[in-house]
Amino acid sequence: MRIRSSLFQSLAAVGACAMGCAALAAPPTQCPALADLPALHCVSNAQGWFYAGTPDAAADLAADASSVAMEFSRYFGRPAPRGAVIAAGTAQTISASTTDALKAAGATWQLPWLDAAERRDLQRSALEKQLRARLPDASDADIRARIDAAIPAQPATTQDATDRSALRHEIGHMALMRAFWPAPSAQAAAAGHYGGPGPDWLDELAAVLMESDTMADSRRALLGRPDAADHLRPLDVFFAQSHPMAAQLPALQAQATSEAGAGGRVRVLSGEAAQRLAGDARWFYAQARGVADFLLASSDDPAVFGSIAAFLADGGDMDGWLAAHGNRYGLPTTVAALDAAWTQWLAARGAQPATDAPQAR
Ligand SMILES: [Zn+2]
Repeated sequence: MRIRSSLFQSLAAVGACAMGCAALAAPPTQCPALADLPALHCVSNAQGWFYAGTPDAAADLAADASSVAMEFSRYFGRPAPRGAVIAAGTAQTISASTTDALKAAGATWQLPWLDAAERRDLQRSALEKQLRARLPDASDADIRARIDAAIPAQPATTQDATDRSALRHEIGHMALMRAFWPAPSAQAAAAGHYGGPGPDWLDELAAVLMESDTMADSRRALLGRPDAADHLRPLDVFFAQSHPMAAQLPALQAQATSEAGAGGRVRVLSGEAAQRLAGDARWFYAQARGVADFLLASSDDPAVFGSIAAFLADGGDMDGWLAAHGNRYGLPTTVAALDAAWTQWLAARGAQPATDAPQAR
């Protein structure tokens, strides 16, 4: 697995550097030893350090980070900064000494991670507690049947694919933040943004761009629904709005902290509990996917998002970016005109057969 991962990594670096990115070729450095998590296996590559319970699982994390790095440099024109993923399981916490060791090694971001099976187990045990409190006389079999109905088992392959797409999504957030807003996250807190210091729509767009084709298609399917117009925002609103989960953030963080242990923070994307908390967030994700497809369809240059991110990170806004660079990317020069083009694009897209989805990859 490790050999295969290294090969994949080399290919990723070659592909990315052909597009003018030199920093991705940085040689991997040895995994820092984590005194508190000695049982974890680690794989390092040019994207960072990846810890998990088995060598195969660590290699998968590393491969996902490599694929994000390749996509990120394509869409954003910059290398994805190095980071660390620590899949330590539900019983482990990520201590300050672990965080310090990884920082010292050069990890610009760190992501504690639970795999899909672990998240599902947590959901099941949380639900079991609730059911037992509410139905003290229910038999074990009855409780189990209710849990199975609420949280149906997914085939392991589907679960794995969803999980890996979710990891890539999260690494996408980290890459955008560290590549374009490298200042500490206090800035993000001050700005009140959900994922990072950048605007929430671009933060989420960067993340959905890293997802699997299956996940991308499920987001696109939402855009094609007859009631989509009731949920999608005009672009001036979309570019300014907060992430719909921002209002739910304290509750989500409490849930994530209890799931990850006091020392770590795991961002949970899928699962019914998260979906309930998310409310309308799925439309925000769908619009982010749609706007990404729309901008890619309008421009010959997939690195359009890097131009936008650099401009916004310098303190500009979308009207300013469109006025300065819209023409170069085949786009109108105001947000109002862009919104008209977006609405038209959506209508034309809706008229297409479902199989003729816009090509983003
Ligand atoms: Zn996200």
